[in-house]
Amino acid sequence: MIVRVLREKCQGHARCWAQAPDVFVLDDEGYITPGDIAVPEDQERAAWRGAKSCPERALVIDDGATAA
Ligand code: SF4
Repeated sequence: MIVRVLREKCQGHARCWAQAPDVFVLDDEGYITPGDIAVPEDQERAAWRGAKSCPERALVIDDGATAA
């Protein structure tokens, strides 16, 4: 599973990180680090919750692709 990061939409709420701190990496100001995230299988559930918790819809789940 890949999470596509739409960095320009991120407003730094850190809700994704609260759900899955091992998946979502924030910068010093609390914004998500740019770049697609290849999620390990054992983190998929947490990553899914984190992506869904983003109020800005900055995290898009891509189930069937490989990392760019
Ligand atoms: S929850 Fe969304 S807006 Fe907040 S830090 Fe994560 S990606 Fe950015």
